[in-house]
Amino acid sequence: MQNMVILGATGSIGRSTLSVIAQNPDAYRAWALVAHASVDKMLELCLQFRPRFAHMVDSVAAMELQQKLSPELGVEVTTGEQALCELVSASEVDTVMAAIVGAAGLVPTLAAVKAGKRVLLANKEALVMSGELFINEMQRSGATLLPVDSEHNAIFQCLPLSVQQSIGRCDLDAAGISHILLTGSGGPFLTSPLESLQHMTPAQACKHPNWSMGPKISVDSATMMNKGLEFIEARWLFNTGLDELKVVIHPQSVIHSMVQYRDGSVLAQMGNPDMRTPIAHCMAYPERIAAGVEPLDFFKVGQLSFFEPDFRRFPCLALAMEACRLGQEATTVLNAANEIAVAAFLQGRIGFSRIAAINEACLGQLSLQRQDSLEAILALDASARRMAESEIDRQAQA
Ligand code: NAD
Ligand code: MG
Repeated sequence: MQNMVILGATGSIGRSTLSVIAQNPDAYRAWALVAHASVDKMLELCLQFRPRFAHMVDSVAAMELQQKLSPELGVEVTTGEQALCELVSASEVDTVMAAIVGAAGLVPTLAAVKAGKRVLLANKEALVMSGELFINEMQRSGATLLPVDSEHNAIFQCLPLSVQQSIGRCDLDAAGISHILLTGSGGPFLTSPLESLQHMTPAQACKHPNWSMGPKISVDSATMMNKGLEFIEARWLFNTGLDELKVVIHPQSVIHSMVQYRDGSVLAQMGNPDMRTPIAHCMAYPERIAAGVEPLDFFKVGQLSFFEPDFRRFPCLALAMEACRLGQEATTVLNAANEIAVAAFLQGRIGFSRIAAINEACLGQLSLQRQDSLEAILALDASARRMAESEIDRQAQA
């Protein structure tokens, strides 16, 4: 029996994880559930999964949950950053699903890494912000890192065992690998006229053709910043040089990414676009369990197509690749600016095309000095957020 902590339990990845646990109740237990502020969703999960702990990041939400939970259920409610870090590090815990959205996931995810847990990483922003620090801590503690993001999970599945066992420090060249091919659907605006992009609404941006996801990652898929963040994520997970990574647009989302070998072979991982597959893969690795996902029917799939990305359509992808080249400080700034810009777009404060403009302005403004402590990274994140907010105001007045 593996005891799991689920960071971001009420979100899209959190609920998919709980669905895989529900299908394999003899092997996994939801020992602790963590969410931000949605009391009713958390209450429902507590009734269904009866975790030992329910943690609400928002302290008022924690009080409300406490009042609504019957004591007979035996669920202890906690709040506060220290309590959260203690939860993920507790000796009872085997596995931590890191599925909080955005930079907010960094501190608890890093705490799980430092405690040497088996960490299933969905929260790509944590790795984008902390890169080298994250990999160093992993090395130091002996934590196991398994990639949940469907592309990185696909790549992981296509790698030889020796590389799988040295995530973060692997040598692709020695394993005969020439390229990693990161596939992406191109999102909902792949074929929309370029002039129409500036008028796209949050509802249109969140309507992904293949995947059902939380709002932030859905907007990131529409700008292809998501693929940019994944480019940076891949750089750290697979220790790649930037010219070893290629982005390939593949609108059907059947192939989830590929690995190209020196001898001309290309290995791909395929499946229906359902996050329960990579989640179940990470939970059971190196074994396999049922995920509740429909088997892929090739006769229904029909055609698979592939294109090169158009950077005029997707300037955020180009910005992320540039930030990756500049280094970890640039990726921290870009990630923070993007979170602020996406939130402003979702609130109707800025238009869709402004997201890239805000990101570009912030990336160009900050002086990037080497930051190698968690405190310095968090401070840089905070100043990039302030800069993005003032850039939003400045551009609104211009
Ligand atoms: P979501 O918006 O559906 O859920 C977010 C979860 O994080 C919720 O449980 C929420 O309570 C929690 N949360 C939000 N703010 C928080 C804060 N300040 N502190 C603590 N918890 C907070 O998001 P999602 O789509 O499930 O995505 C979660 C992560 O997984 C993201 O990093 C995303 O990039 C990544 N991811 C998601 C998918 C997908 O299919 N949804 C695929 C690959 C990777
Ligand atoms: Mg992905």
